[in-house]
Amino acid sequence: MDRRKIEQAVKLFLEGIGEQPDRPGLRLTPRRVANMCAELYAGMTINPAKIITPLRSEDHDEIVLIRDISFASICEHHLLPFIGKAHVAYIPDGSRVTGISKLARVVDVLAKKLQVQERLTTSIAETIVKALRPKGVMVVIEAEHLCMTMRGVKKPGAVTVTSVVRGIFRENIATRAEAMSLIRASR
Ligand SMILES: [Zn+2]
Repeated sequence: MDRRKIEQAVKLFLEGIGEQPDRPGLRLTPRRVANMCAELYAGMTINPAKIITPLRSEDHDEIVLIRDISFASICEHHLLPFIGKAHVAYIPDGSRVTGISKLARVVDVLAKKLQVQERLTTSIAETIVKALRPKGVMVVIEAEHLCMTMRGVKKPGAVTVTSVVRGIFRENIATRAEAMSLIRASR
């Protein structure tokens, strides 16, 4: 990541909106933003498929669901955050499973780059398909977009829901309904 470019850009941006980048409150802002970018966009250089290492376990061909994985990402259209929860379900093929924390980590890594919610949802599902070749994957994301809350239509609290289903979740309505009811279970 080119921190110097980020600092220059932030300074120009501040000038552009009519600020004085040299006033005390703003003097360190370009550097702060550059430092923050290393964290917010940490997923740029990580291959998410490498996070999921298949484990051998007892055969389990029922739904494994991790609900309410919180994430924060940045909308690539407005450079504003969208914040929400991902629910990730999969059905292993025989004994090929993965550690539950790895799935949460995949969500994190894919969120830590410029995104749109639809692509975030699809890429989580596709990463799991590629790494685990499961019988099915379902990913549901609910998020609030600050670009809808602070500008444009200004609808705070509006939640955007996206879902992607692959394999048996796509083919079998009963399996998909079972996963949906597990996702809704605690509300
Ligand atoms: Zn946006």
